[in-house]
Amino acid sequence: MAKYNFFEQVNKNFDRAAAYTRFDKGILEQIKMCNTVYHISFPLRRDDGSVEVIEGWRVEHSHHKLPTKGGIRFSHKVDEDETMALAALMSYKCALVDVPFGGAKGGVKISRRNYSESELERITRRYTFELIKKEFIGPGIDVPAPDYGTGAQEMGWIVDTYRQIKDDLNSIACVTGKPLAQGGIRGRTEATGRGVYFGIREAVNHKADMDALGLPIGIEGKTFCVQGLGNVGYHASKNLTGDGAILVGVSELEGAIYDPKGMDLEELIAFRKETGSIIGFGTSQELEKNIDIFEQQCDIMIPAALESQITGENADRVKAKIIAEAANGPTTADAHDILKERGALIIPDTYLNAGGVIVSYFEWLKDIQHVRYGRMNKRFDQNSLLKIVRELESISGKKYDEEAIAKLTHGAGEADLVDSGLEETMITAYEQMIEIRNNYELRDLRTAAFINAIDKIGTMYEQMGIFP
Ligand code: NAD
Repeated sequence: MAKYNFFEQVNKNFDRAAAYTRFDKGILEQIKMCNTVYHISFPLRRDDGSVEVIEGWRVEHSHHKLPTKGGIRFSHKVDEDETMALAALMSYKCALVDVPFGGAKGGVKISRRNYSESELERITRRYTFELIKKEFIGPGIDVPAPDYGTGAQEMGWIVDTYRQIKDDLNSIACVTGKPLAQGGIRGRTEATGRGVYFGIREAVNHKADMDALGLPIGIEGKTFCVQGLGNVGYHASKNLTGDGAILVGVSELEGAIYDPKGMDLEELIAFRKETGSIIGFGTSQELEKNIDIFEQQCDIMIPAALESQITGENADRVKAKIIAEAANGPTTADAHDILKERGALIIPDTYLNAGGVIVSYFEWLKDIQHVRYGRMNKRFDQNSLLKIVRELESISGKKYDEEAIAKLTHGAGEADLVDSGLEETMITAYEQMIEIRNNYELRDLRTAAFINAIDKIGTMYEQMGIFP
């Protein structure tokens, strides 16, 4: 079977979908290409006094909308091809879920486990400085966010570095996924996993699709395995088990475990914290290799670690009927074909893990508006609802107790509004994909997702005209 690099894999999916669109070759080429690629190297003074050269990238895939947006990854596997592929996926993701950004991605080629906290801070600040120097960061230019190997702490260092050099009214919006005190938003940390849950919920409530798979509708009682219990994998699992799904398999760096009876997520996390490993948890069995997770019996398989995990080599042994792509690019193009042939339902990454960028968009809006969501209307809504409750009491002669009144008159605060906006966006995007899948008589959602994105970006290029 042909081997493709990651960016080629993304473009293969793009080309399949592009064949259904009306755009000419030139416009399609323009959409596909990465607009700018910035390769950085800089010295790091290590804690022991030695000097090491650190390599990093920032890729802005599409400038059809500004700012561009995409996470920063810390991993020893980061390279230019991966960063380009992830940046391209960001453009398609943003278009699909109607977030008005172009796609970008950043990466630093380090394994964070090998660096101390202060070394990580120096790396993050210097990387940010290099981005500032070449105008690769700014609230209206390019806005990074967390990804694999980074989180709120790194975003806090980024915003602080940026503001030391370029402080102005909107500088706080130069990065998202920040700690709350530095302009972050409630719900960002868990957003991607929560979005994964909303997406899976949409898919399993689609009766015709579940009938085709021979599965009942609903999340409750469905078994699932997850590869990677990091930010996305943990929060997706937490939401799914909270709704009655059963966690039967987990794969992490140290190995993989499977227990058909189901595992308690929080107990597993506590066990790992205590012992440093998931191996040996409860009555679970250890699998030979951590990649063997994909061959285990379950209804939903959730890759939530890295790309190219389900490949032409192992796809025919994947038993799950639903593949929920929480990670970016976990299924190669050959594997996609094998799974599709077998009739599996693949919920594609461009859609399923969009929760992070959706809530990042809300954070960016909050930062440039300089007002917390709910601040203007929460109290007004509560007072209006209280008036209705008092009116009902006087009509019915019944008195509500304090707990009931608190529930009935709850006004939406920031966390409620963020969650509601995320849910609404995930539902709408799923409906759009299903509509396209039906209109074009397609057999998969990935092509539908790409058609949707290409159509939106291509239409913008058509309307913009091309700069002479
Ligand atoms: P993370 O670093 O928090 O977690 C990744 C987890 O996967 C870690 O616990 C790591 O130990 C584990 N892992 C790594 N290699 C593994 C392997 N070979 N087998 C089993 N486990 C392995 O990262 P994250 O933010 O949860 O990102 C995970 C995926 O989700 C990535 O593909 C990322 O691009 C994608 N994603 C993340 C976000 C976000 O908001 N964080 C948004 C969109 C997409």
